[in-house]
Amino acid sequence: MKGKTIHMCVNVRGAIRNLTRSRAHMAHGFSHPDGRTMTRDEAIEAMYDELEKGHKVLPMGSPCEGFDYSGGGCPGHDTEDA
Ligand SMILES: [Zn+2]
Repeated sequence: MKGKTIHMCVNVRGAIRNLTRSRAHMAHGFSHPDGRTMTRDEAIEAMYDELEKGHKVLPMGSPCEGFDYSGGGCPGHDTEDA
């Protein structure tokens, strides 16, 4: 059987909106390269940095082959079940 895998991605503007509304001090799900969880303010700054790079969407986890940061996200991958 043929199928298609689409990896999840995060909309950067949506993330900023959620972070801005959040009252939490820490931004769970956002971490520094060394693994420490970001504070809400740090996460918002990081998201603005991504927008400045022209990134509208971010992969959840490591980027996959052909990931389109400008908005398309994961292009989808054909999978074939044995
Ligand atoms: Zn993918």
